[in-house]
Amino acid sequence: MSRLFQDHYNDALSQDEQQWLHRVRELCVDTIGPGAAETARNDTFAWNTFRLLADAGILATAFPRQYGGSDARQQLRIRLIEELGRVCSAAASMVTGADLSARAIVAGASGEVKQELIPSLCTGRIQAAFALTEPGAGSDVRGLQSVAVATNSGYVVSGRKKFITRASTSDWLVVVARCRRTATSGQKDEEPLVALLIPCNAPGVRIGPETGKLGWYGVPISEIELDQVSVAERWRLGAEGEGFSLAQDALVRARLGHASMALGRAIGAVEIAATYCNDREVFGKRLGSHQGVQWMLADMVTQIEASRALLANAAAAYDRGDPQSHIQASMAKLHATDLGMRVVTDALQLTGGRGYLQDFPLERFFRDAKLNQIGEGSSEVHKTVIGRDVVRRARESDRHPCLDANRLATDW
Ligand SMILES: Cc1cc2nc3c(=O)[nH]c(=O)nc-3n(C[C@H](O)[C@H](O)[C@H](O)COP(=O)(O)OP(=O)(O)OC[C@H]3O[C@@H](n4cnc5c(N)ncnc54)[C@H](O)[C@@H]3O)c2cc1C
Repeated sequence: MSRLFQDHYNDALSQDEQQWLHRVRELCVDTIGPGAAETARNDTFAWNTFRLLADAGILATAFPRQYGGSDARQQLRIRLIEELGRVCSAAASMVTGADLSARAIVAGASGEVKQELIPSLCTGRIQAAFALTEPGAGSDVRGLQSVAVATNSGYVVSGRKKFITRASTSDWLVVVARCRRTATSGQKDEEPLVALLIPCNAPGVRIGPETGKLGWYGVPISEIELDQVSVAERWRLGAEGEGFSLAQDALVRARLGHASMALGRAIGAVEIAATYCNDREVFGKRLGSHQGVQWMLADMVTQIEASRALLANAAAAYDRGDPQSHIQASMAKLHATDLGMRVVTDALQLTGGRGYLQDFPLERFFRDAKLNQIGEGSSEVHKTVIGRDVVRRARESDRHPCLDANRLATDW
């Protein structure tokens, strides 16, 4: 198979992992790619794509072997998601979403609960949704208002969640809420965050209608209302106070997923635009023979390759448990998703009116690209995280050798 973008990172994969990649590629070429336009025709859940991914064992790559998964390293997952993102955002989102929504179960549930749920999550027999965002808390989770009031046997949960992907098709919700003990005063700083598993059919859970959106058709979102929902203690994930760290752990992995999906789509967009540039003649020669067009393509592929390298480093850092891997994931997500939006916009420009039409894939790619800059921490949030880390680490780092070690830089 000859492709425009090369497999620089295959050496980092084992034989078994390369076979996984090969299988997903075949699936994308034979089924998911040719069917992607149909999958995204309406914003209803793409069950056929979901079943395909589940039956091929791709959803299970997020889960431990002990419970029926294949526990793929992030270095493999980013490659699989890139492949899927190259053709179909819904498919890529299902693979990142399976991880995001269930990661807190893997990391925080009791052995008994894991045994009960994870095998069915692996096969797609059941689904979970990750419910963090609220009307008053998106970028800033300190605004969370949902409350889990502790009782003798568990919790009673009330609140509203917004923009929750696959809530309408899920069996379980992973809900992050403030944990209130009657002894506390109700002050927010006395209410540590707790993560709870709640069945979607529990009394008091209301999943709202699917909300119309710009792109990512095939993976709908809904609001959720929780009205005095009783949750037994066995469904708590981790300890009280671990809700934030469990969510963060899930989000770091999901950020690598967003970055891979955005890069896959950007790769696909360049492939499509470059083909158009070869097929189309303007001013007596191929569109792709014009220097201005070549320079645009050169910028796109160069930046995509730089971003793939950044992402590969971030995934490797995560796999080896590097404590800075969350910052690297933020950088990879920021870079890949902003770049992805630019590349898709330029690719559409290169294909002129053809690119703007609904029957051409770039129209869909263009609409899908925006969400990667918003979900799982927007670009601005990641800049804040990265910038804060730079300032902190600069304080702890050796001074630059051209500076006087014993003088403040301001006294220079
Ligand atoms: C299609 C879709 C699917 C989603 N799926 C899920 C899901 O499954 N589960 C879930 O919990 N959530 C989900 N979300 C929510 C998503 O994670 C949030 O939309 C995102 O975190 C941003 O929060 P917000 O929309 O409230 O934006 P806000 O927090 O209101 O921010 C608005 C804008 O201001 C910017 N901004 C915020 N703070 C600053 C600052 N300090 N400096 C500069 N700029 C700033 C932001 O970057 C953003 O551009 C989904 C959202 C969408 C649209």
